[in-house]
Amino acid sequence: MSLLRKILLIEILKGLSLTLKKLLFHKPVTIQFPEKDYVIPAPGFRGRHALVRDPNTGDTLCIACMRCVKVCPSKCIYIEYEVDVNERKRKITRYDIDALRCVYCGYCEEVCPVNAIVLTEYFSYIGFTREELYFDKEALLKNWDEFISTQKRPYMNPFWKPRGYPEKLLPIKKREFKGV
Ligand code: SF4
Ligand code: SF4
Repeated sequence: MSLLRKILLIEILKGLSLTLKKLLFHKPVTIQFPEKDYVIPAPGFRGRHALVRDPNTGDTLCIACMRCVKVCPSKCIYIEYEVDVNERKRKITRYDIDALRCVYCGYCEEVCPVNAIVLTEYFSYIGFTREELYFDKEALLKNWDEFISTQKRPYMNPFWKPRGYPEKLLPIKKREFKGV
């Protein structure tokens, strides 16, 4: 019997029929990017950097605490600030991220006490020069505007801490969060 199967190439024919069946009757599992809509990334996907724009001031929420600079393993965040003695607070004068050096670990967004920095879920970005992927403050704020305009529901990064963010904008789960 097994000799007959060998002579008649039964296994090969079975394999070929399976290939043909998949080819003719099954939908492809791959997606033609970017012609077709791509998959929505999972919450917490770490994509293009952005500085969250404060809806009240139109500026960044950053308070220049320098935690992100210290925690960044790639040392690709550069911040300069000045101190407003009257208001007793720091104001950033420079906030740059060299995205080509970033390893997308997400430490910066995790450590930020006011949820000012985020790795958005936007992943479809390219640059033809190094400069295009070197984001300064204005570019980072623009990245946020572009990202948030595509969001249909209130956005909450799962790595953000609830504190420092307007409570009414938090999803219930985060509002009830009593952690750090
Ligand atoms: S994601 Fe990681 S490597 Fe990239 S800027 Fe943030 S801390 Fe640095
Ligand atoms: S951790 Fe947040 S608030 Fe502190 S410097 Fe970085 S972005 Fe600004």
